[in-house]
Order: sequence, then structure tokens, then C-alpha cells
Amino acid sequence: MVAVEFDLDPEQEQFRAVVREFAEGEIAPHAEAWDRDHTFPVDTVLAMGRLGLFGLVFPAEYGGAGADFATYCVALEEIARVDSSMAITLEAGVSLGAAPFFYSGTEAQKQEYLVPMVAGEVLGAFGLTEAEAGSDAGNTRTRAELDASAGEWVIDGQKTFITNSGTPITRCVTITARTGPGEISNLVVDSGTLGWTVMPPYRKMGWHASDTHELVFDACRVPEDHLLGERGAGFKTFLRILDDGRIAIAALAVGLAQACLEQSIDYARTRQAFGGPIGRYQSVAFKCADMAVAVENARNLVYKAAWLRDRGRPIRRAAAMAKLYATEIAVSATREAVQIHGGYGFIDETPVSRYYRDAKILEIGEGTSEIQRLVLARDLGLPVE
Ligand SMILES: Cc1cc2nc3c(=O)[nH]c(=O)nc-3n(C[C@H](O)[C@H](O)[C@H](O)COP(=O)(O)OP(=O)(O)OC[C@H]3O[C@@H](n4cnc5c(N)ncnc54)[C@H](O)[C@@H]3O)c2cc1C
Repeated sequence: MVAVEFDLDPEQEQFRAVVREFAEGEIAPHAEAWDRDHTFPVDTVLAMGRLGLFGLVFPAEYGGAGADFATYCVALEEIARVDSSMAITLEAGVSLGAAPFFYSGTEAQKQEYLVPMVAGEVLGAFGLTEAEAGSDAGNTRTRAELDASAGEWVIDGQKTFITNSGTPITRCVTITARTGPGEISNLVVDSGTLGWTVMPPYRKMGWHASDTHELVFDACRVPEDHLLGERGAGFKTFLRILDDGRIAIAALAVGLAQACLEQSIDYARTRQAFGGPIGRYQSVAFKCADMAVAVENARNLVYKAAWLRDRGRPIRRAAAMAKLYATEIAVSATREAVQIHGGYGFIDETPVSRYYRDAKILEIGEGTSEIQRLVLARDLGLPVE
């Protein structure tokens, strides 16, 4: 007999209900205004912290819940079901901000940075991307030179599109920098460090309530012990972080697509045209049916990837599949949901309008769709470039 289990355990289901209640009560009623006004809602982020969302996957010794990765995916799904901006704030806070400290930090660094991040009292950011190093992240130009006499690293360079890097509760950014020929390392720069400038927020197509900035480092000095992980191990660390992050982004995409499905069904049932609900037209009803299949498939890929990760199995392929598929069906789901809502779908008071703008970045951030296909094609043994 083959043992296949598709149910979450009762504790996870209970947890889903708690997060849903929070998301519907504390986030959904404000999401449109935050989006319109480009507001980063600090109090709500702190409330997500008090709910324990930033500490789910970390062990109790650092204040976390010691939950599995699947539980974290449940949280991301539920938050993204009402607001992608808050979901990416959580995802970046955990997978990009806190995880590098958990994976690579010394005990002292864990106490100083990880513990308050786990409590959701502060946020960390991860600065990998540069103007000329996105998909090609190995092309990092930012340099850090050790001034041995002062016991400090001197950082010069720039980082592009860094999430959570300029909020009132941002504690630090972990950056990748060249520390020698062929050597990339991770360094922690505390907020407010002289020589680090957080540029004004980008004007973005979506994710208006998420915080994104260009960062400039000009002879920025940090203490020698702000090296995170071993010198030269920066590339390896961020690949590991991105594998986890891809599953998390895929979970976020499932939540967004789920919201499109639910709102499309509601609208198809209630909107009247030509003497009856539009859901009686196959062109509308079949869009909903196709969306339901896509959401189901994407969710299965996400939880399979999380399941593999929770068992310490290799996840690169499963994470790439989940990220590629879930983000692409999320973009399609938002397009179809807007279509089903007709003109109202184009008006910003209708949530699907915001979902449409929020979706596109999912096919780009933490590895574009093309990069996921590259990972998968290589995994198939193809000599693809
Ligand atoms: C809102 C937002 C938030 C972000 N947050 C963060 C963050 O917190 N930290 C961080 O470090 N980065 C962050 N990013 C950056 C993001 O991860 C990059 O934008 C992404 O990895 C793509 O890099 P790029 O923009 O330089 O595009 P490029 O790499 O220049 O890609 C341009 C196009 O070329 C294609 N392409 C490139 N190389 C190949 C190849 N080998 N084969 C096939 N096609 C290829 C790409 O798929 C894409 O279609 C964020 C970006 C945005 C917009």
C-alpha cells in the first residue's frame, strides 16, 4: 500500500483559522487604503509579530514556534489571500531577513539579531540584487575591504530593489559583497550606519504597502565581526536562502490565486447580465473551473516542496517547480478574475484590480520564471545555457 497524505494535521488547520481571522479582521479592511496611499503599516506588522508569524519556523531556543515549513506556507497563503504586500513583508522578513542569521550566524549574532526578528519586533533585509547583478547575482560589484588596523570592513557599492530595507523597524541589511578575488561574503550593516544611504522608495506597479529601496554604500564601515558566516561562503548561503524563499513565494502565489478564485465565483453567482447571473455562461464558469484546477495543482506543488524540506530532502527541483507554476498561474488567475469582474475589475476599489498589479512581480522576484526553467532544464540533464 502506498501511504499518501493530503490533509494538513488538525493543529495546522486550527492555525490556518487563526491566521485567516487575523488577516480578514486586521489586514483586509485596510489593504485598499494602504495600497492607495503607499502606507507601510508598522502597527499591523508588529501585530503579525505578536501573533508569532515571524518566528514560526525557528526553534524555541530563539523564541520561535519550532513549526514546520508547511505551517509557514499556510501563514503566507492566508495573508496573501487578502494582501500581497503584507505577505511579502512577512516572507522577506523571515526567509530573507532572519533565515541568514539562523543558518550562518554565530551564537552572539543569533542573540543580537535573530531573537528580535523572530519576535517580530524588528525586520532584517537581504541585499543581493544590484543594478548589474540580478539573475546573474554572481556579478556582484559591491566590495568590502578589511581595514585590519581598525578592525572594520569598508563597504562600497549599491543594492537594488531591497525589500524591508527602509522601514521604521528595519534593524539591518545583510548584503553580499566581494571580499577578495572570486570571493563573495555576507556582511551585516545596521540601520543608521554612517555611509549607508537608503534611497527614496521606488514607485512600483504593485506591492504598494511593501517597503522597497535602493541602498548605497559609500565608505561604509562595519565592525569586523559583522561578517555573517564564513568569509567566501556568501554565494552558497544565498543559494540556500533562495531555495527556501522560492517555496515561500509559491505559497504566497497560491494565496493570491485562491483569492481570485473565491472572488470570481462570488461575482459570477451574483452579477446579473441578460436576465441572469453571468456564471451561467460557460465562458465565465469555465474560467472559474480552470482556475480551481490551477490553484489545486499549485497548492500540491507547494506542500510537496515543503514536505521534502521538512524531511531534509533535496528541494532545488521541487522549489523551482512550485515557484514557476504557482506564480504563473497566479498571474493568469488575476487576469481572468479582472475579466470576470468586467469594468469593475479595472477600478481600484475592487480587490482584484490590486491583485492584478500585485501578481506580476511574483514571476520576477527570488528568481525569474526563466531562471526557474533554467534550473529545471539543467536538472533534466540538458546542456542549456
Ligand atoms: C519589488 C521588488 C522587491 C525585491 N526584493 C528584493 C530583495 O529583498 N533582495 C534582493 O536581493 N533582490 C530583490 N529584488 C530583486 C529581484 O530578485 C530581481 O529583480 C530579480 O532576481 C531579477 O533580476 P533583474 O531585475 O536584474 O533582471 P535581469 O536578471 O536583468 O533579467 C532580465 C530578463 O532577462 C532574463 N534572463 C536573465 N538571465 C537569463 C538567463 N540566464 N536565461 C534566460 N533568461 C535570463 C530574466 O529572466 C528577465 O526576463 C526585488 C525586486 C523587486 C522588483
